[in-house]
Amino acid sequence: MPFYEYLCESCGKDFVLLQSISDKPENTACPYCDQKKAKKIVSQFSSYGSGAACSTGGSAWGGG
Ligand SMILES: [Zn+2]
Repeated sequence: MPFYEYLCESCGKDFVLLQSISDKPENTACPYCDQKKAKKIVSQFSSYGSGAACSTGGSAWGGG
C-alpha cells in the first residue's frame, strides 16, 4: 500500500498514513486532533516551471 500525506485543516499539522488507494480523505481522521479535516497533499515536484510564470523578485519563499 502507498503512503499518503495529509494536511489537517483543523490543527494545521501534516502527517503521513499508509492507506489503500480506495480510502477516502474525508474519512481520514487527524491523529493530532482527531478531526476529519485532513486534506490529501499531492506532490507537485514535477510540474514546477512552465516558462512564462517566472518569479522576478528573487527568493519568493517564506513569509509565513
Ligand atoms: Zn488535526
